Amino acid sequence: MYDLIIIGSGPAGLAAGIYALRARINCLIIEKEAMSGGQVINTYEVDNYPGMPGINGFDLSIKFREHAEKLGAQFIMEPVKSLEIDGDIKKVITQKDTFETKTILIATGAQWKKLGAKGEDKLQGMGVSYCATCDGAFFRNKVTAVIGGGDVAVEDAIFLARGCKKVYLIHRRDELRATKILQEALYKLDNVEIIWDSVVEEIYGEEKVEGIVVRNRLNNETSNLEIDGVFVAVGTIPNSKLIDGKVEQDSHGYVIAGENCKTKEPGIFAAGDIRSKELRQIITATSDGANAIYSIEKYLYNL
Ligand SMILES: Cc1cc2nc3c(=O)[nH]c(=O)nc-3n(C[C@H](O)[C@H](O)[C@H](O)COP(=O)(O)OP(=O)(O)OC[C@H]3O[C@@H](n4cnc5c(N)ncnc54)[C@H](O)[C@@H]3O)c2cc1C
Repeated sequence: MYDLIIIGSGPAGLAAGIYALRARINCLIIEKEAMSGGQVINTYEVDNYPGMPGINGFDLSIKFREHAEKLGAQFIMEPVKSLEIDGDIKKVITQKDTFETKTILIATGAQWKKLGAKGEDKLQGMGVSYCATCDGAFFRNKVTAVIGGGDVAVEDAIFLARGCKKVYLIHRRDELRATKILQEALYKLDNVEIIWDSVVEEIYGEEKVEGIVVRNRLNNETSNLEIDGVFVAVGTIPNSKLIDGKVEQDSHGYVIAGENCKTKEPGIFAAGDIRSKELRQIITATSDGANAIYSIEKYLYNL
């Protein structure tokens, strides 16, 4: 019987593990991949985590995991298949075992949606990015393209326009879905050009992004744009299969929980990218991990 089972060992799960062990909470961390780190493992360079400028994502993941291990964290590397969350004692079921616990922290993260364009996978991390907040600074005085038409795409274009020489915003329709206030801010920028009714068919380049092939959906004509970076902003998907229908979620499937990471289900907490929130970053995920343990402590000890 555990006091706490943490599902997922990305930044949120590992930070929670560190805080839990320091609070002497008897916990187990279950991770479906062979390695901890979550999305960070595949991040070429992380330049916005304090104290570690420019660190490689893989190295940062190892540091997080080693820190948790140093404090005595116990890991099981296999996917959690299902949960039974009713009652005081909850069950976490993996392929091989069933574990009992008083509380569960869901830290299963999210994924960025891909465009599906030719060359996208090959050039990910070499000019193809899914996060302007993370990678925008690498494109100072360069030419970039943002793909999408919602709030995130427009926010990304505005953010990038502050440092980039030129930003193209490529949208498949003839109007943006983003809120009007964001659109107004965008239209004021001289270095942003919107390419309407268009999709990106190919991202090309040898060692790094050199350009994109854009197809106009109305006349099917294609054109080449020489650019240095592509920011895909077509949405994210939460890794929520385990809790779908069990825990309250927003319209996109993210778990509804405040900064204290408490869901409406007693003993069930959510931290990191899986939680409904504005900014999904390593620092906000680790901060959730800490807040979640503070709430879990209160729950376990009736504080
Ligand atoms: C390419 C890329 C670049 C990025 N660059 C930056 C950056 O520079 N700076 C920054 O701050 N942020 C960056 N981010 C965002 C950052 O990585 C995320 O916000 C952060 O990793 C979220 O942490 P998390 O622990 O909530 O989720 P994740 O990192 O997604 O971790 C979730 C973990 O849960 C595991 N899991 C899922 N389902 C199960 C299951 N059923 N059973 C067991 N385990 C499960 C997953 O395998 C994973 O290890 C980047 C993201 C990507 C994809």
